[in-house]
Order: sequence, then C-alpha cells, then structure tokens
Amino acid sequence: MSEILSVRHLSVTYTDSTPTIPAVNNVSLSIHDREIVGIAGESGCGKSTLINAILQLLPDSIVDMEGDVLLNGQNLRTLDRESMRRLRWMKISLVPQSAMNALNPIMTIEEQMRRIMEAHWEAARPGEIVARIDETLEMVNIQRQYKKLYPFELSGGMRQRVAIALALALRPDVVVMDEPTTGLDVIVQRGILMEIKRLQKQLGFAVCLVSHDMSLLIELAQTVYVMYAGRIIESGPSRDIYRQGRHPYTRGLIACFPPLQGSQRTVEGIPGSPPDLGQLPPGCAFHPRCPQAIPRCTDQSPSLVNVRPQHAVACHLHTPDIPSDLVEASHDRA
Ligand code: ATP
Ligand code: SF4
Repeated sequence: MSEILSVRHLSVTYTDSTPTIPAVNNVSLSIHDREIVGIAGESGCGKSTLINAILQLLPDSIVDMEGDVLLNGQNLRTLDRESMRRLRWMKISLVPQSAMNALNPIMTIEEQMRRIMEAHWEAARPGEIVARIDETLEMVNIQRQYKKLYPFELSGGMRQRVAIALALALRPDVVVMDEPTTGLDVIVQRGILMEIKRLQKQLGFAVCLVSHDMSLLIELAQTVYVMYAGRIIESGPSRDIYRQGRHPYTRGLIACFPPLQGSQRTVEGIPGSPPDLGQLPPGCAFHPRCPQAIPRCTDQSPSLVNVRPQHAVACHLHTPDIPSDLVEASHDRA
C-alpha cells in the first residue's frame, strides 16, 4: 500500500494563552491508501489539535507550528490559503466533533451539500451535482426525499449521517473523523461505524479516525496511534496494540472500554486525569498516574522506540538498558 498522508515531526503550540500550550509535540504518523488509522487518547491529549493542524485549520494568529504534512507527496504547510481551500473536501475532508450540530440550521440538507460541491467541484457537468447528492445520501442510508429537510427535522443519528455524506460527497482520498459518533446512543453509534467501514471498502478512501474509545478503534482501524499529553506514546497494528500493547496508558485505555465483540469483562478506569498541557510534569508525563512508574520516570522523558518492526512505545520499561529486576518489580505493582 502506498503512503497517502504523512505527518512528520509535527508540533503545535497555542500562543494565544499564557503560558503557551504545547498541544502537539513532535508527532509523526502515516496513513496508507485505503487504510483506517485510529488516534486514541482521553480528552485533552491533543487529538483535535493534531487533526486541525493536519487540515491546516489553525490560524497563524493563535499557533506556532513546526514539521510537515504531506498529502500525496504535496506539503500542505507550504500551500497558500486558496490552494488549501481547493484541496479541502476534494482530497481531504473532515467530519468534525459534534458534526451533527455543525450543520447549518437554516439550510436544507440539499442546499448545504450543493453549496459545498459547487464551491469545490469546478469540473462538474450539469446535473452531476444533483445526482451525486442523491447517490451519496443513499450511500449513508438516507432516502433522497429527506434532502429537502432542515437539520432540526432529522434525528441525531441522521444528522450525523448527513455530516458523513458531506465529507464523502466529493470522494476525497482521506476522510478525517473526529469522534464521529460521540453523543449518540450505543446502537446508533455502532450502526454508523459499521457503515463507515462498508463505505470505506466501497469507495476506497483512507480514514483517520479519532476517538477516546479504544475498543472501537481496535475493531475498525488497521493501525492505532495512542496520544498522551500531546505525544504519541505507542503505535502499531491494532491487533498488536490490543493483545500486546505495552504502554501502561494504552493498557489502561483498553481496560476502560468493553470489547465490542466477545466476552464481557469488568471495565476499569485510569485513576486521575490527563495533565494540564500548559504545566506538564517533568519526566514521563504519565508518571503521576502510572502504577508501574520507576525512579527515572519522574525526571527523564522516554523516547518512542521500536519494540517490534511496526510497533513503537515510549516507556522506560521498554528501553533496552532497563534492569530486569526493576521491570519485574513494576509489574508486581500493576
Ligand atoms: P477533546 O477530545 O476534548 O477535544 P483533545 O484530545 O482533542 O480533547 P485538544 O482539543 O486538541 O485535545 O486540546 C489539547 C489542549 O489544547 C487542551 O489543553 C486545550 O485546552 C488546549 N487548547 C485547545 N484549543 C486551544 C486554544 N485555541 N488556545 C489555547 N489552548 C487551546
Ligand atoms: Fe509509567 Fe514510567 Fe513507562 Fe511513563 S515511562 S509509562 S511513568 S513506567
């Protein structure tokens, strides 16, 4: 599979607050053709900032950015606003957080879809936009007559499907979804997620799926990146992350969510909450919450290192020079 989106050493600092907030710190990730990649982490870990930075949606007036974002080899960071506007929706699109509330309340579904398509699909032939609206709504299981309705006339689940239809209307190569089913009940959530998987197979786009729900990501994504305090702290194939996730935070996140399939088990939370990104603790940012912390965790920040060819972890317990007695003692505490 060829690489379609490549994020290289991306850092984002909010400069509109005092102290400044380093919300994304040296993040690198890859998304391949037709791949579903998951980004996991609790609220406040920097996930939305990361995807807004990928889509170049953060104004220079509030952030400092470093690093590169390559879409099909083109560096989005070097594009001017107009060039980036042309790419959005056509090549890369977003289903934003609370998408169902992001629809324009005073426009019918058809009008909203038509406006976006007219603004971005310059080569459309007469009738093509209308046909595409109907086709895309049907793909997300919304009958075409509903396009005449306003968002408030639809249920939450249907509004969410419309938001997904908007993102897919121009058949982009990559669709970024920020918590696409938050706020919906579990059954509706599951239906929508299965549909995303079906559509992804049918249309062949790549997905960057952001969620705090690890079991959902493990079920849908081929590759998962786990974020904590603005950094990637573990990444790898989702089956390896699920069965052999090594970072104590990853294990904690997995324990927080019951598996979507298979046997039920007790759900445990991670004690404490993510740190204030403006005042990160020294050393490993997870150390105040980590049941396995060892002395060096309080003053040395662990680097992301490969533990297997495609599986990387940032945790002192998984560095080659760590004495085995320290590791065993830490496991006893976990
Ligand atoms: P959530 O799922 O709740 O959105 P998240 O993991 O996506 O959480 P972000 O929304 O990216 O995290 O927020 C990361 C950090 O950046 C938080 O500490 C947040 O307060 C801070 N932040 C977000 N937007 C701004 C802003 N405009 N100015 C200053 N800080 C901001
Ligand atoms: Fe826990 Fe230390 Fe590993 Fe951080 S580096 S996750 S504190 S053991």
